[in-house]
Amino acid sequence: MMSPMYSSGELSLMSSIQHTKKIALVDCNSFYVSCEKLFNPKLRNKPVVVLSNNDGCIISRSNEAKALGIKMGEPYFKAKNIIIKNKVHVFSSNYALYGDLSRRVMRTLKRFNSKIEIYSIDEAFLDLSDFPDNEAEDVGKEIRSIVLQWTGIPTSIGIAKTKTLSKVANHIAKKIKSGVTSLIGIENIDSILEKIEINDIWGVGKQLTKFYHKNGIYNAKQLKNISNTWIKKSSNVLSSRTAMELRGISCIPLETKSSKRKSCVVSRSFGKRVENFQELKESVTSYCLNGSEKIRSESLVAKSITVFVRTSPFQNKGIYYSKSKTIYFPIATNNSIEIVKTALAALKEIFKKGYQYQKTGITLSGLSNSQESKNLFSSIKDIKIENLMKSIDNTNYKYGRSTLSLAEAGINKRWNMKRNYSSKIDTANFNSLPKIKAV
Ligand SMILES: [Mg+2]
Repeated sequence: MMSPMYSSGELSLMSSIQHTKKIALVDCNSFYVSCEKLFNPKLRNKPVVVLSNNDGCIISRSNEAKALGIKMGEPYFKAKNIIIKNKVHVFSSNYALYGDLSRRVMRTLKRFNSKIEIYSIDEAFLDLSDFPDNEAEDVGKEIRSIVLQWTGIPTSIGIAKTKTLSKVANHIAKKIKSGVTSLIGIENIDSILEKIEINDIWGVGKQLTKFYHKNGIYNAKQLKNISNTWIKKSSNVLSSRTAMELRGISCIPLETKSSKRKSCVVSRSFGKRVENFQELKESVTSYCLNGSEKIRSESLVAKSITVFVRTSPFQNKGIYYSKSKTIYFPIATNNSIEIVKTALAALKEIFKKGYQYQKTGITLSGLSNSQESKNLFSSIKDIKIENLMKSIDNTNYKYGRSTLSLAEAGINKRWNMKRNYSSKIDTANFNSLPKIKAV
């Protein structure tokens, strides 16, 4: 039997009418604050803020806190007056909680489409091209209501032909009640782009903003309509990609699972200055344990580890010290014991007595899939270690982080972060779950 004949031009036209490329950017609203609110209904409609590590700056605000004029990134001490006067609820960041809720949101999103790029802890790009164009907005609304229903986290969703435009759409969605904006099917979006300031465009940082302002470009419409030759001559490839994307031509592909991350960083500032080697050793050990657990959970192994130490750059210049050391493993590994041993050897080399250290950290680099990296030298001992690591991970997952640890990680952890206002809720730890009283 003959099927109806179409020329290839007609075919692509037919399919493009219904199924053009559609990218959704799903962004959790005031994510850290939303996480804290989730288990504390008393916070509903109250001003709430979450502080960065060591209770330094304000990094998440509820709408009520924004309305009081509390700024993003503002140091806590500067906002303290407004906070006390208005009884703003303050929380230290609780990344165990945020990480767990983030995973729940991402898992929910994956049910709509496996083509997903997790862009940050509270943001993901989702390919919606398989849905018909005229349903884009409805699909967005459904995603939003299911994420809210299943996880309790409110989101804003922007849908458009490219990643850059989906960010623009999200910007608008944030300000409207439905929380969903689709630019799909709108012929001319110039009037929308005109209202987007140049520094609010994805990928345009402080330096570029200065450069564009100097050249009389203040909004997204101007950037979209600028000539390609000018932009290539006077700026760089990334800027011309942004301009193309504003025109609806997709240049920045979705980075899905296949392009896994290449390194894993764990570093933190100390709650107080640290001078002695023992305490540095404990912190580096505990970062190694976190890092190796993280890469194991993604079935990755590392080729090398870098350890760094530094004092505060704001101290007297004469006593600033900063040093790092990289060591390659004989065979790529995710074995906590080997990673800790290697890191401590590196630390020993870079540690100098007499300095007040403010920060240490580790980077596991050259990550690759652990199955693919099995080789001739893999032995029965390796399998035994692999099983040991698995049981450590399972135990810690069931009974809370660091139930099983290495003695090197220390017990007192006096160097730990300042977290004076933590909600102490850990949804991955049975004992730290919020308690609900039955009436
Ligand atoms: Mg957000």
